[in-house]
Amino acid sequence: MIYKPSSCNYFTLNEKELLIVNFLKGISSFRVVTGNDVDLVKNYLSISLLDIKNPNALEKMLIDNGFLIPENYDEDSEIEMLQLDYIYNSKLRIVVHVTKDCNFRCKYCFIDFENKKMDLLIQDKIIDYIRMNISKYSGVYISWFGGEPLLGMDVIPDAVILCVNSFDEVDYIRRTIQYIESCVDTKVIALSVFPLGYNDQLGRSRLVPLSDEVLDKVATALYKQLGIPAFILGRESDMEELYAKTVSFFSSDSETKE
Ligand code: SF4
Repeated sequence: MIYKPSSCNYFTLNEKELLIVNFLKGISSFRVVTGNDVDLVKNYLSISLLDIKNPNALEKMLIDNGFLIPENYDEDSEIEMLQLDYIYNSKLRIVVHVTKDCNFRCKYCFIDFENKKMDLLIQDKIIDYIRMNISKYSGVYISWFGGEPLLGMDVIPDAVILCVNSFDEVDYIRRTIQYIESCVDTKVIALSVFPLGYNDQLGRSRLVPLSDEVLDKVATALYKQLGIPAFILGRESDMEELYAKTVSFFSSDSETKE
């Protein structure tokens, strides 16, 4: 079959590794390429057409993760459909600009680093707006924007969904939860587990997608040890449950949130 590189590939090279991601497939396509594979992958992703009959492991990885797509595949239409879905779907999307301050000073940054956080009136209005409108939507996306959003930790979060890796130590996650809940008046209501991890064959050299069975075990173990439900990031059924849990948390009376 003839393949071409996706127009949504992005890669960057550090000293020894090539980091690749396909924006259409999302974060699960992220891979770290090392050793001899670096030049091979760079070549695959820059060539215009490629005839692959029996894909080897590397080629299979590139095909399965959308880096290489069939020559006649209309990727532009897929992108357009995604854009339309993003614009017209029933999720409420809110970007919260909590602070202009940041502890970095990237050369290209446009922020003026004003040491000022979003004031209380605006915080309350955002919460009121979500409460009043959430019933019209099937879910809510909130993006934190800065500056460095963590410098505005005390702004708004009545609830936190903590993103964790499948391989994070439980004690580390527990300490993080304690830290967050001690910094501000908030509650960690759920964990979201990043679906990549390590396997015995490749060790720590490469993140790979984990099977549903492994991810379910991780989620169950986290729930048992921390008493907080864990959902697999990007798995549709889990995300629906997470939306429902979040909506229910914000729809309930303050007494039932304890
Ligand atoms: S806000 Fe972002 S881009 Fe600007 S200095 Fe901080 S990290 Fe860099």
